[in-house]
Amino acid sequence: MDSRTVGILGGGQLGRMLVEAANRLNIKTVILDAPNSPAKQISNSTEHIDGSFTNSDDIIALAKKCDIMTIEIEHIDVNTLKSLNTINPNLKIYPSPDTIELIQDKYIQKEHLIKNGLKVATSQPIETPTVEALEKVGEQYGYPFVLKSRKFAYDGRGNFVVKSKENIPAALETLKDRSLYAEKWAPFFKELAVMIVRTINGRVFSYPVVETVHENNICHLCYAPAQVPDSVRLKATLMAENTIKSFPSCGIFGVEMFYLENGEILINEVAPRPHNSGHFTIDACVTSQFEAHIRAILDLPFPKNFGNLATSTTNAIMLNVLGASEKDDELKVCERALATPDTSVYLYGKESRPGRKVGHINIIASSMTECERKLAYVTGNSEEQVK
Ligand code: ATP
Ligand code: MG
Ligand code: MG
Repeated sequence: MDSRTVGILGGGQLGRMLVEAANRLNIKTVILDAPNSPAKQISNSTEHIDGSFTNSDDIIALAKKCDIMTIEIEHIDVNTLKSLNTINPNLKIYPSPDTIELIQDKYIQKEHLIKNGLKVATSQPIETPTVEALEKVGEQYGYPFVLKSRKFAYDGRGNFVVKSKENIPAALETLKDRSLYAEKWAPFFKELAVMIVRTINGRVFSYPVVETVHENNICHLCYAPAQVPDSVRLKATLMAENTIKSFPSCGIFGVEMFYLENGEILINEVAPRPHNSGHFTIDACVTSQFEAHIRAILDLPFPKNFGNLATSTTNAIMLNVLGASEKDDELKVCERALATPDTSVYLYGKESRPGRKVGHINIIASSMTECERKLAYVTGNSEEQVK
């Protein structure tokens, strides 16, 4: 399909699913991550690099082996990325290092979104992380508010919900040694997300708006399409498209949003890569978010129905498979999923640890009620097996 080699910084589950999409199109991928990482397990190339996407020498080694470099995680060494053209002058990097840099620091990302007219929760940097400084924030924002790490955050690791003044020392202790900002509480009714793919020549395609449900800060379920009025879906889509148009880049992006009780929509954050809220696209859409990314960075064709649901009656629920407290107990859910029609199980080849994302399940049906019936069986909340 294309003789160029794609280098991927990061070989976790997102990298693994990018490799799957690339494999189907005969596109060669080279991965930089730890040995036997999920993406490497499904690609027998001898050229993968064992190392880290935060290590400059390892990134340079990858740059020498590929024509196009991309990421499956934004927490990479961006300064090295910016210098790679001296090593490989023909190397293309998508998304652009500037975009990754803007997004990496969640406070700078917020400032960028505000500058571009997008609504976000009010926030402020915490230059000196002291009890007094946070008490002042509490007076301004009220409680709860969220203390957040500006960088290296994922799955809520890096967030602390400050529920009262008494909570402040614990928040500072939990997030010590990290660069912080404080964010006003967003009283959301639902959390929404939209996957957007942007082509090299700047065309933007959006996937259906979904609703995500988080448990302990980790995405637990994703309903596609979101069960909200059409006007809300339209507004969320436009906001997500405008968000992505504000970043000079190409590839797939995830836009997380808060749909507030008063009807307002705020952008929570942007991911410059495939996203958990886009896993449903593998089974529910004409083209998956992973193939969308591969097509975008290689400048392959995008027909006009790109991003659409597979049929006008397709509904989907994605359930994340998290490591259970008893080792491998989560496989029981997977077995029930395998016994359910139009339901697909994806395991990532990761060792099971309690709370760790080790896979996901996509449930498809012609109505959301039917998806929910299947979900109840899969999760063991109902013994009624959907045949
Ligand atoms: P991700 O894994 O999505 O990158 P993250 O670690 O960057 O997560 P956030 O997206 O900032 O964390 O927050 C995780 C979750 O915490 C959100 O999806 C939401 O449920 C809750 N949350 C975050 N910020 C706020 C807020 N200001 N008000 C209310 N809830 C919030
Ligand atoms: Mg994040
Ligand atoms: Mg998030």
